Amino acid sequence: MKVTSIRTTPYWYRTDRPFADVNFPEGRSEWSGLAVFVDTDEGLTGVSIGGNAAGIEALAPLVVGRDPSGVRGIWKSMVDQVFKGGNRGAITGAIAAIDVALWDLKAKAAGQPLWKMLGASVPRVRAYASDIGYCLSDDELRAFYARMAARGVTAGKLKGGMDPDRDIRRLRIMYEELAKAVPAGRGGSTERPTAAPIEPLICIDANEYWNAKQAIPYIRTLERAVPLFWVEEPADRWDYEGLANVSRAVEAQVATGENLNDPKEIVPLLTHGAVDVVQPNVGHSGITGMLMIADLAYGFNIPVAVMNSPGNYLAHVAASMPNHLMIEVVDAGRDNWFKVDCRIEDGEVVLGDRPGLGWETDLHKLSELSQPPEHRDAFNFGRRKGAGILIHGENR
Ligand SMILES: [Mg+2]
Repeated sequence: MKVTSIRTTPYWYRTDRPFADVNFPEGRSEWSGLAVFVDTDEGLTGVSIGGNAAGIEALAPLVVGRDPSGVRGIWKSMVDQVFKGGNRGAITGAIAAIDVALWDLKAKAAGQPLWKMLGASVPRVRAYASDIGYCLSDDELRAFYARMAARGVTAGKLKGGMDPDRDIRRLRIMYEELAKAVPAGRGGSTERPTAAPIEPLICIDANEYWNAKQAIPYIRTLERAVPLFWVEEPADRWDYEGLANVSRAVEAQVATGENLNDPKEIVPLLTHGAVDVVQPNVGHSGITGMLMIADLAYGFNIPVAVMNSPGNYLAHVAASMPNHLMIEVVDAGRDNWFKVDCRIEDGEVVLGDRPGLGWETDLHKLSELSQPPEHRDAFNFGRRKGAGILIHGENR
């Protein structure tokens, strides 16, 4: 089988609810995406999303004419091609989108679901609910976690970082709702430490808003009120010394890594003791890069926790990682032109047996979504002004 062409279709959509974190606390419901199709001479097409059309066009000559079953070799060709500028930013998104579509093809050609192709023995992955809902009211937050608890989810992650009193109030809301799903006998005591993590597992994500010195007293304040399982990105993603200081100073696990790009960037986190839970993301140069990251972490006895994805398609990859802890689910209607063969049940993402990523695509719907909206707001997806020690004064 040989790749004959790569096609892309941009699309625009609204999520079921706004997403927000400390960097854009006002929230946003309007998003765009890029559908990616890798065609072959045998009629199979690999599908993925993400990346940018210009990057994919630039990389296509390295892929067309090659057998998609050699996906890891093709991945190396793409990474080597961008070596001088670095495998990061927009171009790593393009590498990732092509890589995911090639894995989809490889599994489809074998007639297997991707989880099986990747070597998973069980098609189930523990889920944690993630609100990405800094802008949600307390009632909306409670409703979200109640809905996830009704599906058996017993772990969650709150967006916070600017106001410890607000965070504690909202962490308690999450705790109360998720605790309803914890089976009898599995709940921990909040009165004294135990070897087993206390369920429900309560996490908070500061999205790199603090520096390490700010993070430590802030997290300690939270920990006096609620049992925290992990604190996510408590400092800049490259601040290996600072993250290590946070890890030593607080009870919670330090989770980070989602915004790095090349698998090699995880190494200094591991060697500095700067991470307790590594977070593989599709932005780590695709499925091939995510697998490398999980193996690197395994060598350091560090668990991994895969980031969210539309339709939870990354659960295929998570299921294959022997050191996987739990996958982020947001459940917000981003799988609008495709459905993934999976469901959330008893607190787990349960994958089906459809070949490849298991997507059922609706190309008519994609065509409808491919008309750009008349009014598109400028959206700053950058770091919040005032992050780090500039939290006070004019930069707040
Ligand atoms: Mg995060």
